[in-house]
Amino acid sequence: PCTDFDMAYFHSYAHVGIHEEMIKDRVRTDTYRAAIMQHQSLIEGKVVVDVGCGTGILSIFCAQAGAKRVYAVDASDIAIQANEVVKANNLAEKVIVLHGRVEDVEIDEEVDVIISEWMGYMLLYESMLGSVITARDRWLKRGGLILPSTATLYMAPITHPDRYNDSIEFWRNVYGIDMSAMMQLAKQCAFEEPCVETISGENVLTWPHVVKHVDCYTIQLHELESVSTRYKFQSMMRAPLHGFGFWFDVEFTGPANSPPNNHTQSSVIGLLNNNPVDGSQRKKRTNPNDALVLSTAPEDPPTHWQQTLIYFYDPLEVEQDQVIEGSLVLSQSKENRRFMNIHLEYSFTTDYMADGSTYMPVAYQ
Ligand code: SAH
Repeated sequence: PCTDFDMAYFHSYAHVGIHEEMIKDRVRTDTYRAAIMQHQSLIEGKVVVDVGCGTGILSIFCAQAGAKRVYAVDASDIAIQANEVVKANNLAEKVIVLHGRVEDVEIDEEVDVIISEWMGYMLLYESMLGSVITARDRWLKRGGLILPSTATLYMAPITHPDRYNDSIEFWRNVYGIDMSAMMQLAKQCAFEEPCVETISGENVLTWPHVVKHVDCYTIQLHELESVSTRYKFQSMMRAPLHGFGFWFDVEFTGPANSPPNNHTQSSVIGLLNNNPVDGSQRKKRTNPNDALVLSTAPEDPPTHWQQTLIYFYDPLEVEQDQVIEGSLVLSQSKENRRFMNIHLEYSFTTDYMADGSTYMPVAYQ
């Protein structure tokens, strides 16, 4: 059912700003375009559905790659503009804009390809992946292509003294006045909820842990209701631990046993490099299987997703090699399935504790 929360959600996508931000994120948009070109042989002459087409940009890329027909579906009123954009580019014959939810609209044929840009903050926030699964189960041909094909959410302990000093320590001395009475409130306001901000590789204390790996070809809806994991980190340095950072990447590969055609790879890179707006001139990141990767990791070029940070109210000093372990549960909120409850527990050993451990459960709603 379409709830009031869904209405508010789709309404938020009727504003230009959110689409501008996504389209100007060149890491995002160029990687999608490169992935479409890399899979051109599976798109040419084929039927595509774009789950949540927004302004229609990915649908048009697919039409440019030679798709026979593209169903561009969006429940937000942005679909009205998408339709105008399609017409203005003389693609109305090929790109059919459907203004409605993927769960509700009718498409009277099977499709060969699903493309969607569904990833939210911390990957799963907004929980739009469910709509991709619905589209897959409603329309995708056996052996069809899903872009992106896999997604992985990571977490790692982080240190971020600058951020802590900026927002919290700042109150110790304000124009010579002791305002440390403000600190408790400042911690609450700054760190009560997860923060979306950019950190760099230097903020990360050790190798990340995989919270969840999603295979878009096989994942089932019920698997998204709750995601839980146990983690164990060993800090590579001595530093104040300020909390945990989260990021994700997605990969663009064909269904099992159909590797992407390397034949188009060089032309894609040529095309990217000829583009005057693309200052990066970077070869697209690929994994060892040569699949394109869209990464939002701190060590990679920044994207509009940045990273998601969960801060402690007070930093905890960790030693080199110290073990930080615990568990994480991400669950869809019962009231509003677009929201996510985060339950994070952590414990670690210190030199000062005879029994060797402290235990501090924290829950974010
Ligand atoms: N594909 C576009 C927009 C991505 S943003 C681009 O890459 O720029 C995600 C879009 O999906 C939003 O416009 C939102 O309204 C739409 N959306 C989310 N869930 C949907 C659903 N269940 N049915 C139809 N559209 C949906």
